[in-house]
Amino acid sequence: MSQNQPVESPAMNESLVPDMKDIVALCKRRGFIFAASDIYGGINGFWDYGPLGVELKNNLRDLWWKHMVTTPPVGPDGQPVQIVGLDSAIIQNPKAWEASGHVGGFSDPMVDCKETKLRYRADHLKIIRVDSPDKNLFFAFIEETSEEEMAAKVKKVLGKSVQIGAHESFLECVDKLHLIVAPDAKESGTLTPPKQFNLMFHTYVGATASEENKAYLRPETAQGIFLNFKNVMDSSRVKLPFGIAQIGKAFRNEVTPRNFIFRSREFEQMEMEWFCHPDEVETWMNFWFEERQKFWKNLGLSSDNLQMRQHGQDELSHYAKEGLGTSDIEYRFPFTAPDFGELEGIAHRCDFDLTAHSEHSGQKLEYTDPNDQKNRFIPHVIEPAAGLTRGVLALICEAYTPDPNRPSGVYLNFHPSVAPKKAAILPLTAKDSHVPLATKIYMDLREHYAVDLDIKQNIGKRYARQDEIGTPFCFTIDDQSNEDSTVTVRHRNTMKQERIAIESIRTYMEKEMALMAQ
Ligand code: ATP
Repeated sequence: MSQNQPVESPAMNESLVPDMKDIVALCKRRGFIFAASDIYGGINGFWDYGPLGVELKNNLRDLWWKHMVTTPPVGPDGQPVQIVGLDSAIIQNPKAWEASGHVGGFSDPMVDCKETKLRYRADHLKIIRVDSPDKNLFFAFIEETSEEEMAAKVKKVLGKSVQIGAHESFLECVDKLHLIVAPDAKESGTLTPPKQFNLMFHTYVGATASEENKAYLRPETAQGIFLNFKNVMDSSRVKLPFGIAQIGKAFRNEVTPRNFIFRSREFEQMEMEWFCHPDEVETWMNFWFEERQKFWKNLGLSSDNLQMRQHGQDELSHYAKEGLGTSDIEYRFPFTAPDFGELEGIAHRCDFDLTAHSEHSGQKLEYTDPNDQKNRFIPHVIEPAAGLTRGVLALICEAYTPDPNRPSGVYLNFHPSVAPKKAAILPLTAKDSHVPLATKIYMDLREHYAVDLDIKQNIGKRYARQDEIGTPFCFTIDDQSNEDSTVTVRHRNTMKQERIAIESIRTYMEKEMALMAQ
């Protein structure tokens, strides 16, 4: 592997970091993302995608599917690689989760606060030490807490300002529990020692809620792929190396869901298991690592906000302890800045999953070399596993551009391929002469692009709405349009307006979108 830990750590101007509160408010105001069960006060860790959010999410989903399954990339030998799709059930035989290690091991250490009754993931807490006149105190904070917030909390508890110094991990400080002030507590010593907490949601299949009817909601889409390895091998004409890709919901009973949709309890993943010969692992690991970075960059995530990081030994999952480990593609989210948060992991899962399912099910999950029937082996697996909903958040954060020079004060600078609407057709007034022509243009254009026909309100308000939902172009129809068959086009990013012929609208969009995509 060519990457170290971390490879790139670009400098950043902190004043450019948008405020998460503003992003969340825009997402609600314009119909991207709502709290689930909003009218009942929400439910922690669950989110609904509104009319524009679902379009954005589907666009990202479809681009990933195209990149992986419909037109997969060209491999090191100059030929397109081979990847097939799958859509497996969310609930599988519970034995599958015993074999995969999720029933026994899919747990995080968590601690409870006796004062506030709040629960935290121990590995997401950081500890700072503060010298106070009577005793040394330790303050626990959730990872992303900023220095200012930490200083304010310490001041509130101690009644004086202190310098915030280096921090340690909570797990290194478990012997000092009596001296630690929990993130939301007023006094020290309220945290319990960490205990393991299984993150899988369970349910009962059938009429009786008995232990033998217990089943789990999948915590990752990957296992459905391993369970179908033999079915795919027997029914399709795949030959090693090949991939099986799947997009779908995953559920994790996260101890502390937070940061909007970044860490939710119900979310979507885009995962691909790449099966290859153990001798070729390094080549393919490097290949997928490069391809997956390209994918995110091509959707407009700037290289300054992306970082590649190789997991340290202490972070490795059970399946990655041997082999080449895991490397993450990380994005600088506003709540992690100046640090980064995981967007996608690329793991060498070795032959862990196929071996485990083979042992537990009694079925042979091996590959037979078609040129040498005696050569049978269990393939190794490289897994690029990305969050679809986390990807949506990265796209929104990247696109969010405050601009005091426009009425909306902000616009979403989406890459045209993910923008929910590619253009808006706006009759200048609701007059008879403007609306029919606008409708005609809309009816023609909607066959080719996702477009909006927006008739109501004054034109300024309509431009502001399109800016806030990230529509690249607005075409306005006025009196002159009926005379000389032209419209005014307004470009989202520059607000520049120009007059173009109605018949050239499609060519204009094609050309401009190609320029914006560069
Ligand atoms: P984390 O360390 O953030 O808990 P992970 O390493 O457990 O993530 P994986 O099991 O590798 O995550 O899952 C693959 C991808 O699924 C992650 O890179 C992330 O984009 C997404 N993902 C994982 N957990 C969540 C969650 N609770 N909410 C939203 N997306 C998630």
